[in-house]
Parts: sequence; C-alpha cells; structure tokens
Amino acid sequence: MIDENIKEMEEYAEEHSVPIMNKRGMNFLCKFIEKNEIKTILEIGTAIGYSAIRMALVNKNIHIVSIERDQERYIEAVKNIKKFKLDKRITLILGDALDLNVDLTDKFDMLFIDAAKGQYTKFFNKFSKNIEDDGVIVSDNMNFHGLVNEVDTIENRNLRQLVTKLKKYITFLEENDNYDTKFYKVGDGIAITVKKGVF
Ligand code: SAH
Ligand code: MG
Repeated sequence: MIDENIKEMEEYAEEHSVPIMNKRGMNFLCKFIEKNEIKTILEIGTAIGYSAIRMALVNKNIHIVSIERDQERYIEAVKNIKKFKLDKRITLILGDALDLNVDLTDKFDMLFIDAAKGQYTKFFNKFSKNIEDDGVIVSDNMNFHGLVNEVDTIENRNLRQLVTKLKKYITFLEENDNYDTKFYKVGDGIAITVKKGVF
C-alpha cells in the first residue's frame, strides 16, 4: 500500500512536471538520515510532499516542518500526507520561506534546501541559525541537470542567471569559514554541510 502510494506520487509528479527528488538521490538521503539518527528536519520546498513523506517513512522518530509557497502544490501535499497518516509528524507551512514571519525558534537536526535554485544562499543564511551545532544542511540539485558545468552554453538568459547563482552558492559553501561541505554526485548532486570540526 505504501509502495503503491509512493508510486502514485511519482507518477503525479511526472505528469504535472513537479521536480521531485529523483530515486537515487532520495535513497541516498534516506540512508543518510537513518545512519546519522536525524530526528528533526526543516525542509524548504515541499512541492507535493514526496521527499517529506519519504524522509518521514525512514522511522517513526522523525518530525518534519516543510515550507511551500505554491498553493496548488501545498494542497496536494496536504492530501498526500493525510493518505500516509503522517500529519502528526509532518507540519506544512504555506508561504514564501524568505518572507515568512513565523519565527522558527526551534532547532532542527537537519535543514533540507530544495526550493528556488537562485535563492540557496538566502535560504542558507536565513535558516542555518535553526540548525543544531552538530546538525547538517543538505542542498539538492547541485548539478542542476548537468548545467552547472556548462553555464556558458546556456542560451536562455534567465536560466543562465539562475545557474550562475547556483554556482555562486557552491563557491559560497566551498569557501565558507564556518562550515565544511562535501559534494556527492548522487542524484542531481547533493551537498552536505556541517559546522567546521564536525566531519
Ligand atoms: N522537495 C520536493 C521538491 C521541491 S520542488 C521533493 O523532492 O519532493 C521545489 C519547490 O520549492 C517548488 O514546489 C516551489 O514552489 C517551492 N519554492 C520555491 N521557492 C520557494 C520559496 N521561496 N518558499 C517556499 N517554497 C518555494
Ligand atoms: Mg530537488
């Protein structure tokens, strides 16, 4: 039943062009969560709830707060989370993460950044204070379908700008004095960032 519902979400995403995490990236992230005994997660970019549900299914101790600005996707996510009876462990917030007024005073074990690719540095700067000192920041789509290494060949101006910003985020992580980052080629490229001295 669970597998069927997961498959249904994957099909919905495909049909409606919702950019959910791909299977390999998702499996890698779930293993990482399990291995590191991560219990609380703040996700930026819920979409239809696919990654939040997959992460919550890793084990029953996991609690997730997830933010989505698109109302249609948010509604779909609410539906999906109910279907999996995960509404006690996944809290959804409808709104733009960057102008969210809700003061998130909670500290999470993990921040998962998977929203607008041009805004990653802003998400990082706004929400890294909500992470425990030994917590992790996970960023998805570091390769952006291979485009990150081919910026000069991108003809569409908006897309080029976006990928340029993503590249700047990568440099920001690499050169950060307070954090160490490892980049994994799995999925669409996943970065795992921790405070210096934790790795
Ligand atoms: N994490 C999801 C996929 C997220 S797709 C999964 O793997 O299943 C990225 C989502 O981020 C989109 O639905 C988009 O509407 C949302 N988004 C982009 N910028 C945002 C912002 N500033 N605040 C909240 N949501 C945002
Ligand atoms: Mg993604």
